[in-house]
Amino acid sequence: MVKAILFDMDNTLLDLFKLKQMAIEAAVAAMIDAGLDCPRDEIIKSIDQIYIKEGIEYQQVFNDVLKKLIGNVDYKILAAGISTYRKIKNAYLDPYPKVIPTLLKLIKKGHKIGIISDAPNLQLWTRLCDTKLQHFFEFVISAEDTEKKPHSLPFKEALKILNLKPEDVLMVGDSIERDIAGAKKVGMKTALAKYGIVKEKIVGVEEKTKEKMIKPDYILNKFEDILEIV
Ligand SMILES: [Mg+2]
Repeated sequence: MVKAILFDMDNTLLDLFKLKQMAIEAAVAAMIDAGLDCPRDEIIKSIDQIYIKEGIEYQQVFNDVLKKLIGNVDYKILAAGISTYRKIKNAYLDPYPKVIPTLLKLIKKGHKIGIISDAPNLQLWTRLCDTKLQHFFEFVISAEDTEKKPHSLPFKEALKILNLKPEDVLMVGDSIERDIAGAKKVGMKTALAKYGIVKEKIVGVEEKTKEKMIKPDYILNKFEDILEIV
């Protein structure tokens, strides 16, 4: 029987990918408005390439894109991009539909819930506070405090805190390679957050090949489907 549930955060609890795309598109429009003389699609393509190379959490993406496209950082254009990006991100970050009522039901049923995330600590807690999710979880384990998934360390750390056997714990995540593979390795049950897997995702190109080899125990087509399996 499942006694505890661990969640990945980005694209499992929070629709970060859609948000990021919206914020980038708005930032690019603002940079063009501030004087960046490049075609919109070329700027977006360059930004995507920087994220592929540096990772989705990379913070210098607008600096780098200006260096690449115009050879230097024009601060008026940079500030226009950053300012708009932040405005959009802060205004539109939301949990997926039904996340909050479903978490409340899980807690009411007596399940312990926690988070295992690869996001840096500050971004992790900022996103939880922005979405009012910061009080729901008994613990939050980050890659900065342990290792990035699929390393066993964050999963073992969760088992230690929970004082449970791995078969009593369900891991929910959108990444086959990181969330599902990592949890399976230590013997946990797994559920794939299929609603969080976006086509043409910036990160996760490598996942497609491994996807066929690693099978989750359950598939969630929407967040509240979890209530049917625990
Ligand atoms: Mg994720």
